[in-house]
Amino acid sequence: MASVTLEHLTKTYPNGFISVNDVSLHIEDGEFVIFHGPSGCGKSTILRMIGGLEDITSGEIYLGKDLLNDILPRDRRLAMAFQNYTLYRHFNAYDNMALGLRLRDLPRAVIDSRVKMAAKFFGITGVLDKKIKSLSETDKQRVALGRAIVCQPKVLLVDEDFARQNDKRRMEMLGDILEINETLGITVLYVTNDEQEALALNKKVIFMKDGIITDIR
Ligand code: ADP
Ligand code: MG
Repeated sequence: MASVTLEHLTKTYPNGFISVNDVSLHIEDGEFVIFHGPSGCGKSTILRMIGGLEDITSGEIYLGKDLLNDILPRDRRLAMAFQNYTLYRHFNAYDNMALGLRLRDLPRAVIDSRVKMAAKFFGITGVLDKKIKSLSETDKQRVALGRAIVCQPKVLLVDEDFARQNDKRRMEMLGDILEINETLGITVLYVTNDEQEALALNKKVIFMKDGIITDIR
């Protein structure tokens, strides 16, 4: 688990547009924080820079005491739950969850125990041998989250387009993510432009507009 610190974080696109403008922020180890603000205010850009999907123009990002700027995305100990949770439809749930661990060459027994633990955590043990294409959307979502946590990330990044599809599934997903935060102690950064949702969660909300933080409540 780890804290996340942003220091004067800035993203300027090649056309000169400043999407994130000198943002400094400290998120405690184990915290659940919500980034909220209108579409286009820079929320996803911050998440993408933390995740390493986007270059940082200037400023620093720390995970605990480690400077993330120069660490390759796959070595960052972060998990991301973004829009298209790219599960392999023709593979079963187990193999989808095991994939990242196999790429890291972990021993088979370790992979097996981690996948089974994550499956138990999300209540999807019964569908581990089922192909993704035959699963309900809720179970697919849980496989995607399971795949994220088997790598034992210190921080989970969730963008609002993850499970945008309908309110019921969104609530289930939020319940799962709150449980990840509370039970496993993983720091969560959650992005939403839905103000009701942001406030209903009863967690710290970081309000953004035009690339800057306007309020923290
Ligand atoms: P949010 O997630 O808050 O809706 P984003 O972080 O996705 O906002 O985008 C912030 C701003 O950066 C938007 O105004 C968007 O149009 C702009 N932007 C994103 N990518 C580029 C790019 N490649 N070039 C120029 N501007 C971009
Ligand atoms: Mg966005």
